[in-house]
This record gives sequence, structure tokens and C-alpha cells, in this order.
Amino acid sequence: MKTIGLIGGMSWESTVGYYHILNTVIKERLGGLHSAKCLLYSVDFQEIETCQADGAWEKSGEILADAARRLEGAGADCLLICTNTMHKVAEQVQSAVSIPLIHIAEVTAAALLRADLHTVALLGTKYTMEQDFYKNRLTAKGISVLIPDATDREFINTTIFQELCLGIISAAAKRRFLAIMDKLAAEGAQGIILGCTEIGMLVSRQDTSTPLFDTTAIHAESAALYALQD
Ligand code: GLU
Repeated sequence: MKTIGLIGGMSWESTVGYYHILNTVIKERLGGLHSAKCLLYSVDFQEIETCQADGAWEKSGEILADAARRLEGAGADCLLICTNTMHKVAEQVQSAVSIPLIHIAEVTAAALLRADLHTVALLGTKYTMEQDFYKNRLTAKGISVLIPDATDREFINTTIFQELCLGIISAAAKRRFLAIMDKLAAEGAQGIILGCTEIGMLVSRQDTSTPLFDTTAIHAESAALYALQD
């Protein structure tokens, strides 16, 4: 089994989910007392969020690249950046190490194509929804991406940083997220990407008839399966 290196803590609330899913998949596949071999470098998210807000992406990329080097040095065979947003600096992180980075948007695109979906909506931070670094990975594979309107984007972004990343799960936020998802489905979205690793803490598949693609689950499952490959 390969050792998975996690760059986590963005936020730590969702990194807990990665750990749970990695171990669940390995246990399902191998049985017995098998569990995932993994290493976690958990950052101080306040430092990263300050860089995001200041537009200091290069600086945040250097923090994550440093974490990547430490994980490689400690024996990781592959790397995960446990957040969609920070894939903005995925190339900077990948170029710091020789082990492969499993890119969250690439494995999400693969999951969408396996489900034969070609028009989807993307929910995430304002950086993920509004900038091109994430959407381009999907459109390059022939997937059309819808995003919420400006008011809804603002609500989603605020909820992520002021509630979900702090472990606050509110019924009001859940209702509004579901209403936003219904609106996007009515606009033609065949599925919804939960493109922020905390959104799966708020809504789940049972809450809506529109297929949901939880990037935390997709990313962690992909890494677990990679770890089991020859
Ligand atoms: N975890 C979130 C994401 O998947 C947001 C936190 C961040 O800005 O990194 O994008």
C-alpha cells in the first residue's frame, strides 16, 4: 500500500472527513484491520485565509509547497491538497516535489464523466466559483459549468468561511443551499459539484433529487484507490 500525504487544515473540519473516508475505503477493500497509510501536514488556516483575502497566492503556494516537501521527505508516495480553493496553487506545489499530486478537479471531472454528466453547477468559495483555475479543468474535458448568481455566490462564500470552516452547521444555511441547488437544476444543471470540502457537512445526497458530487469524498476515495494500485 502506498502512503498518502495530506496537506490539510483548510479547514481542519473537512480534513477530518478525508481521514475518515481514506480509512473507510481501505477497510472496505482489504478487510480485517487494514487502514490507510497516511501522513498529515495540517496548516494554520488563518495564515492561508489571510493570503487568499490579500491575493497573496504565491506566498500561500510557498507555504503549501513547504508542506509538500516535508511530506515527501517523510515518505509520502502521493499528495492531496485537501481543499478545492488552494488548487489555485496546485502547479506551484507539484513543482516542489517529485511525487504526484492528485488534483481534486481532475478526479471530480472523471467522476462526472463516469456518470455521463456534461452540464453541472459548481458551488464553492468565491475564488473557486469565479476564477478560471478550477472551471478550466472541467471545461477542458467537455463539461459545461454553471455558477450561482452574485447574491447566492456571496451567501455561499460567507457561509463557508463564517460557518462551515468553524464547524457551524445551521438549518437556515442548509435550506438556502438547497434552494440555490434547485435553482441551478432548473437552469439545466444535471448535477451539482460540492466544490468546497466543507459543503458535504451541510448537505448530502438524501437532501435532493439532483445528483451531488462531493469533492471531499471523490478526492479521498481516488487517493485510497491510488494507494492500492501496483
Ligand atoms: N475547504 C474549502 C475548499 O474546498 C474552502 C477553504 C479554503 O479556502 O481553502 O475550497
